[in-house]
Amino acid sequence: TVAAQPTVVVDAHGLPYLDRRLPVEQRVADLLGRMTLPEKIGQMTQAERAAVADDPTAVARWQLGSVLSGGGSTPASNTPAAWVEMVNGFQAQALSTRLQIPMIYGIDAVHGHGNVYGATIFPHNVGLGATRDPALVERVGHATATEVRATGIPWDFAPCLCVSRDERWGRSYESFGEDPALVVRMETVIDGLQGRRPGQLDDGDRVLATAKHYAGDGDTDYDEATAAANEGRPWWEQKYPIDQGVTVTDRAHFARVDLAPYVPAVGSHHVGSVMPSFSSVDWTEDGLGNPTKMHANRELITDVLKGRMGFRGFLISDWEGIHQIPDPAEPANTGLTAYKVRVGVNAGTDMFMEPYSAEQFEQLLLAEVTAGRVSQARIDDAVRRILVKKFELGLFEHPYASAGNVDQVGGAQHRAIGREAVAKSQVLLKNSGGALPLRKDARVYVAGRNADDIGNQAGGWTIAWQGVSGDAIPGTTILEGIREVAPQAQVTYSADASAPTAGAQVGVVVVGETPYAEGYGDVGGPECGWCSTPQQEEKSLSLQPGDRAVVDKVCAEVPTCVVLVVSGRPQLFTDQLGEIDALVASWLPGSEGAGVADVLFGRRPFTGRLPVTWPGSAAQVPINVGDADYRPLYPFGWGLRTGSTRTLLAAVAADRADLRAALAVGNWNPDGSLRNATEVLRLLGRPLGSGPGDAALTDAILAVARDAAQAAVVGGRAPADWAALIADAEHAQLSGDPVRAFTLLVRVAA
Ligand code: BGC
Repeated sequence: TVAAQPTVVVDAHGLPYLDRRLPVEQRVADLLGRMTLPEKIGQMTQAERAAVADDPTAVARWQLGSVLSGGGSTPASNTPAAWVEMVNGFQAQALSTRLQIPMIYGIDAVHGHGNVYGATIFPHNVGLGATRDPALVERVGHATATEVRATGIPWDFAPCLCVSRDERWGRSYESFGEDPALVVRMETVIDGLQGRRPGQLDDGDRVLATAKHYAGDGDTDYDEATAAANEGRPWWEQKYPIDQGVTVTDRAHFARVDLAPYVPAVGSHHVGSVMPSFSSVDWTEDGLGNPTKMHANRELITDVLKGRMGFRGFLISDWEGIHQIPDPAEPANTGLTAYKVRVGVNAGTDMFMEPYSAEQFEQLLLAEVTAGRVSQARIDDAVRRILVKKFELGLFEHPYASAGNVDQVGGAQHRAIGREAVAKSQVLLKNSGGALPLRKDARVYVAGRNADDIGNQAGGWTIAWQGVSGDAIPGTTILEGIREVAPQAQVTYSADASAPTAGAQVGVVVVGETPYAEGYGDVGGPECGWCSTPQQEEKSLSLQPGDRAVVDKVCAEVPTCVVLVVSGRPQLFTDQLGEIDALVASWLPGSEGAGVADVLFGRRPFTGRLPVTWPGSAAQVPINVGDADYRPLYPFGWGLRTGSTRTLLAAVAADRADLRAALAVGNWNPDGSLRNATEVLRLLGRPLGSGPGDAALTDAILAVARDAAQAAVVGGRAPADWAALIADAEHAQLSGDPVRAFTLLVRVAA
């Protein structure tokens, strides 16, 4: 439970909009009727904290509706209490305005409250996608909301509903996966953030969520020409080859892949805000010969999202998003112009993230409305939507945060959820000779630069926008987790594998990526001007040379070689696979490295499954489930398990004697897979998954079938198209067609 927030006595004025007993629509209508045009435009404007921090009257003078922290923009002392004080300071200014309309503070808490020192940092979305556990993801969302609201912030620019279709995209780890059906399953995170019932938004442990970036952000084409033109140029002259790019597709594909996650996000989870994407679609054109920027796409924002999908919340533009709308009169102008403001507002966005041009935005919009080029009705629509959420969040009743809840930040309960999420996100790609789990008393040689680096483990959007290598946040590294989980193990550690290894039975080599966010993704390069850490390096999907050397060295020295890849996306190292006994995709686990140790030592089983296809070579990228000639190293949905299948099924079939009999010992293959899965289906007497309470049983039976399929692949007995069959089965399961999933898996296994 969360301590009550202090209440300001605002009812004193006796105005209807301040009367909490009245319905929200009535309060909004009353308030809207009292507002001047500049006051309305102020509500539509959001500035960066850095732009207003040193000017104690800016929030009030500009009548700002909102303030944000862009990535890494923190108060001088980055403690939870300092955040409360800072946000309350801005709120005091907002409440000093004529109508006392509270401002709404927004932040990117995209894997826990990443900006705040001491917060619980959860796995990035790619890892959450690997868990396939919507209930867990809802708890992660709730814990995040609790920590965010405890610092006085009621609004989170998350989740990213991007469907990542190309690992070269620098944001692919912000995606739950490459299949829209998987992204949809993980939208329970919205329930965790906002609560399931509309009335929950003003609870002290909930925040307004933002579905972003609408739409197609993860499905842009890698532009080879742009990448080639970047070669040899200083970073400031380079252009993104894929981030903020163009989705080259047709409407049917766009609807099926890119828009699909927004339908339930809006219709079932009632997400409160949506952020348009920096990207463009190529099947409409902006009149100047360019693919239409999403921020200018009235059809998709107003007709589709607000109209057809029935979105009732408000849209917040992305960081200077409308600056990117080309102005025909001034094509070279990268700043704001009246044209950009007009097109952006008329397309249907309601609030504008104008970090450093808030005042200019307000002036331009005022002139456009006065000249009749933006209608009063459009302004009222925008302001109404924003005010509804402010009322629902309870900001009028308790605009100030209490510092009394800051101990929620990084609390033990949240860290336990993080640790569980980490364990469930680990994907066991290869496990020759049952290398994993490890014995608790093993002599373990831990190596690799990501074994003891909590900053690398957390990735981008942690403390700084680009993330920070090294000792950036409190928590547990993977190495510390190993020591904690297996105190009897004899652990030697050497980042560069230079320590002697005499007597080690197992090597655990932790390699992968260093932090990054947005942008180039694969061509950051040592010159990179916005990169924050000295380790910044050429971001290709290939393992870094230093990492390769450590893997080679350790694997040559120890009898059993385990490699963990801490990264936001698959890494390429096919030629080393032969020397590696066990390979684990650890993703970006965040602050709770002990969760990795839990699965390494069998405290928990490996259950994670690939949320994206793991390519075999750079030439295969991009590669996705459903592609023709799909022959990756590991398909979408791949993931070996270390738990006992019998235990799994016995638990779910507890009240079914006939099923228990069919699942009895004699019906098992030596590899642990079920021989008579078809018989189990027959016994169910109905299509898989159709009966009440079937979900867990269905999942368990499919896990068994997948075990058998994967065992056939590892044993060299699977048909040539095994990868496509396994990936299609995964898609079928996620799409609610377990019978098809089962049939496809049995085809691999048989
Ligand atoms: C990103 C958004 C983010 C915003 C505010 C932009 O650069 O694209 O995802 O919410 O910054 O930090």
